[in-house]
Amino acid sequence: MPPDKKGRKATDNRPSPQKVKAILDILDLHYPDARCSLQFNNPLELLIATILSAQCTDVRVNQVAPVLFKKYPTAGAYAEAPIEQLEEDIRSTGFFRNKARNIKACCGILHERFGGEVPADLDVLVTLPGIGRKTANVVLGNAFQIPGIVVDTHVARVSARLGLTSHKDPDKIEQDLVTIIPKEKWTVFSHQLIQLGRDLCRARKPMTSDCPLRKHCTYALEHSGRDE
Ligand code: SF4
Repeated sequence: MPPDKKGRKATDNRPSPQKVKAILDILDLHYPDARCSLQFNNPLELLIATILSAQCTDVRVNQVAPVLFKKYPTAGAYAEAPIEQLEEDIRSTGFFRNKARNIKACCGILHERFGGEVPADLDVLVTLPGIGRKTANVVLGNAFQIPGIVVDTHVARVSARLGLTSHKDPDKIEQDLVTIIPKEKWTVFSHQLIQLGRDLCRARKPMTSDCPLRKHCTYALEHSGRDE
C-alpha cells in the first residue's frame, strides 16, 4: 500500500499524533504526580519489591519490604539465605516459593558477577532469573531514570481501550507504545496509565462518564451509551 500524504501506510492503524498528544496532555493535567508506588532506597530494593509485586498489591509489598530490606541489605545476603527462611519472610506476598527461588538465584548472579550491584542495562537485566521486561523497565525507569514503558495489566488494558495498541502480547504493546510516546515520557506515562487503570479504567466496569480521556478513547466511542 502506498503511504498517504502524512507518510502513513493505508494499513497503518496507529493513532494520529494529534490524538496521542491530546491524551498525553490530559494525563499530565490529571496525573501530574504519578509515580512508582513501591517504596525503595536503592536499585536492589526496587528490584526485590518489583519481583514481590507480581500478583500482589503494592500496599502489601510495602508492608513486607522494610523488614525484608533490613534483614537482607545486600544481594549476597539474599543469595546466602536459607530458601525456607526467605520463603517465610515473603510468604504474605503470595507465590512465595517461586518468588523466593527467583530472588535467591537472581541475587546470586548479582553477587557473583556484578559485585552485588543491579546493572542499569535492559538486555542484561532480562537475562536474570525472574526478571522480564516489565520488571526491568520498572527498575530502569525508577531507580536509574532510564526511560522505559512498563506493560503491566493496567497499561495493557488502558492502552488497548484508548486505541494506542491493537495487541494483547505485552512485548508487542510495548513496541507499539514506544513508537508513539516520546521517550522522555515513557516512565511517567506508564505510571499515569496504571493510576488511571486503578481509579477509573477498571477491568470490569470502566467509569467512562467520569474519565477525562473519554473524547479521545476508542472504547468510549464504541461503547457510547452502553457502559454508563
Ligand atoms: S474513557 Fe473509559 S475506557 Fe476510555 S480510558 Fe477512560 S475509563 Fe477507560
